[in-house]
Amino acid sequence: MITNKTTYECTDCGRPDIVKNGHTRKGKQKFHCKTCGKYGTLDPEVKYPPERKAEILRAYHERSSLRGLERTFGVRRQTVSKWLKKK
Ligand SMILES: [Zn+2]
Repeated sequence: MITNKTTYECTDCGRPDIVKNGHTRKGKQKFHCKTCGKYGTLDPEVKYPPERKAEILRAYHERSSLRGLERTFGVRRQTVSKWLKKK
């Protein structure tokens, strides 16, 4: 017998009081938190890990062309400008 028991907590408040709430289009488990009322996805997909993001931002500061980044890294201009605004 194989038991694979994973416990998940709410990504917002950290309470274990969450219930399954269907799946995303990509098949990720969605949840609803009964404590704080949050609807969310477990293990959300991280599209750009921090190293990748840092690399892209470095390239931006060296060459400073969003269109160039789009071609080189395949990252959307909107995504990069969002990161730039956050800084
Ligand atoms: Zn919660």
